[in-house]
Parts: sequence; structure tokens; C-alpha cells
Amino acid sequence: MNRKYRKTIIAGNWKMNMKPSDVKPFAEAVKAIVPRAKWCETVICAPYVDLPAALKYLREAHISVGAENLSEHPKGAYTGEVAADMLVDLGVKYVIIGHSERRQYFGETDITVNKKVHAALEAGLQPIVCVGESLEQRELGVTEELVTLQVKTALADVSPKQVRKIVIAYEPIWAIGTGKTATAEQANEVCRAIRTVIRGLYGARVARAITIQYGGSMNEKNAYELLSQPDIDGGLIGGASLVPEKFAAIIEAANQE
Ligand code: PEP
Repeated sequence: MNRKYRKTIIAGNWKMNMKPSDVKPFAEAVKAIVPRAKWCETVICAPYVDLPAALKYLREAHISVGAENLSEHPKGAYTGEVAADMLVDLGVKYVIIGHSERRQYFGETDITVNKKVHAALEAGLQPIVCVGESLEQRELGVTEELVTLQVKTALADVSPKQVRKIVIAYEPIWAIGTGKTATAEQANEVCRAIRTVIRGLYGARVARAITIQYGGSMNEKNAYELLSQPDIDGGLIGGASLVPEKFAAIIEAANQE
């Protein structure tokens, strides 16, 4: 982390795990343990149906709210889809884009990610853009090239002013939900490489200010070490964000001096 230049963001990704009625007890439990004064911004990205309850109860616990997905289209005949301005109308601040599960199970490509980034930015949502390599790609030694391509494609035609609204989450696919975490050094190395890509595209000032999270089995035990790395500015957290005590402990780790 480097709090002098950029915001630390701890974001939970609930995936398809919490019901609307689970939100209030979760929010109350987190509020009871986490101190109000925090160095980091805390976010929960929740399923669409949970968002009204999340906006009511999580905000009382000083937690911002994000969605887990959005449509690339602004409106129209897309049955079952949710547009960016619908999320904004509700009061949602962030949206996860390009999570590896969306890429793997729903056919999302780097191009889809770029379209969704533009849809989010145009409506005023802050994208959390996920990038990361598979185990095979890591073993082939192509992690940096791959992540560079993912970042460059996601940010195609994004202006220097717009890019300030973007958070990048480096999530090695082999570490998501597996209990295998990248070592702090491995995670920092790729986050640093992403910052170098941003520097090449937008200059040093933007690169210094962009929040780059690590995600992949971050938990209450490894968060401190990961967040101590200079280029890791927060976490995107799946499993551990479902348990108030674990999520609170990660927020505590981000509050380190
Ligand atoms: C994620 O889904 O973005 C994630 C990092 O999950 P987990 O923390 O469970 O590995």
C-alpha cells in the first residue's frame, strides 16, 4: 500500500452466496467489530437482488456497495440484463467487470470487458476490472504479457480523466477459491507490472494514483503480508467476505500503520 498517493480499497465479492435477508445480520455484525475510523474504503459487491438491502444496511456500517456485473448495453431488449444507469439510479458506486468466473462460464472476453468498462464509466459507476492468468499460463511464463494485454484491452479508448475512476484487481485464476494464494512477492510483482502498463498509457501521475488490488484466497491470515507490499492497494475478497469476523480482520489488516 502507499496511502500517500492512492486509496486502499477492501472489496468483498459475495458471488451467488448471500440472500437479501442475510444482508442486515452481516452488516450489523461487521459494524459491531470494525472501528468507524478507517484508512481504507470498504466495499461489498453483491448480487443484484441484494442491492437494495445492501444500500440500506451496509451503508449504515460505512461500507460502499457494488454490483458484480452489468450489461454492456445502455438499455433495450436484453431480457434479464441490468444496465449501468439502473445501478446508478439505485445508488450503487462500484461494479466488478471481467471477473474470471464471468470469463470462464459466461464467455466474456477482453473486448466484452472493454465495452462494460465504457458502459460503467458513461453512467458514473466505478469499475473494478479483474485481470489474471491461469496456472498453465503462469507455468508457461506468459503472466506479464497476458495481464498487459488484458489491461490494455480493458482500457482501450478510456480517457486519462476516466481512468482515475478505475480500480484494477489482479486475480490469478489459480488462486481464486482454491486456498492457494500467490506469495506476497508474486502478487506484488504483477501489480507492479500493471502499474508500469498504466504509466506507459497514461503517465506517471496516473500510474501512481491508481488503486491495484490483489484477489485470490486473501484471508485474515495472509492479508497483512499481502497488503504490506508497495504495489498492492487493497483486496478483492470472495470466500472471506462472507464471514463478518474474517472480513473485519482483513479491514483491520488494511488499517495497519
Ligand atoms: C474472487 O472471487 O474474486 C476471489 C478472490 O475469491 P476468493 O477470495 O474466494 O479466492
